[in-house]
Amino acid sequence: MNKKVIVITGGSRGIGAATAQIAAARGYAVCISYLHNKAAADDIVGAIGNASGDAIAVQADVAQEADVVRLFETVDRTFGAVTALVNNAGILERHMRVDEMDAGRLNRILAANVTGSFLCAREAVRRMSTRHGGAGGAIVNLSSVAARLGAPGEYVDYAASKGAIDALTTGLSKEVAAEGIRVNAVRPGVIYTDIHASGGEPGRVDRVKDAVPMKRGGDAIEVANAILWLLSDEASYTTGALIDVAGGR
Ligand code: NAP
Repeated sequence: MNKKVIVITGGSRGIGAATAQIAAARGYAVCISYLHNKAAADDIVGAIGNASGDAIAVQADVAQEADVVRLFETVDRTFGAVTALVNNAGILERHMRVDEMDAGRLNRILAANVTGSFLCAREAVRRMSTRHGGAGGAIVNLSSVAARLGAPGEYVDYAASKGAIDALTTGLSKEVAAEGIRVNAVRPGVIYTDIHASGGEPGRVDRVKDAVPMKRGGDAIEVANAILWLLSDEASYTTGALIDVAGGR
């Protein structure tokens, strides 16, 4: 059997870190990328190593094309060609209305969330596609229920970036479906991670959880389980799907 090699962008914390640990337990060689937090990334690599898994961490800003190319070349040299990609790295900024947003903020959000996912998908397709001599693979993009709720008064820019991720998922899934690659998205609701602190409200999940039909926030591992299912052979006929992991919201 070919070696399973997974790249998880933004794997140092939150949903990416949970995904990395489950993937390693399921036999993937794991590469996580991170932006600034080397210590957290090294902790995840260490935990995987302690459980007899294979993992590396690579600093790479997904918004920078040269960093993304270097990330995938590092994986090629260390583990061989990637067979699974999780486009997980994503950011949001402080809550504000659209009439307060400047171009700098908009460009940062779109560069990290949209350009970064496109660039990583490009590098993965170049390695996975039978059109390029690859053996196939699977990609999961992290969208958000914000793509359909819109996040008014908080971060419509972030919601719009996730709408773009849904379109990337739909379009790319059709583009590469006959080339051995499945492309799907997971759309989390409110999940207990650090991302809400970036919006200026670390306790946001507890504030909004009563609006969730299940009356609670989600754990990163509950999202990671959906990601791992979509990557697995159990999802062999699933492509172009947008799966909400949002407690019914
Ligand atoms: P998080 O806890 O804030 O972690 C973000 C991760 O992304 C970190 O590993 C961070 O690295 C990395 N990162 C940020 N910018 C990056 C860049 N430019 N290049 C490379 N890596 C970068 O986030 P999370 O809550 O786990 O979210 C993961 C994904 O799920 C995101 O796409 C997010 O939009 C989506 N999502 C989350 C929720 C939620 O409620 N948490 C809901 C819906 C969707 P450092 O550690 O180095 O900073």
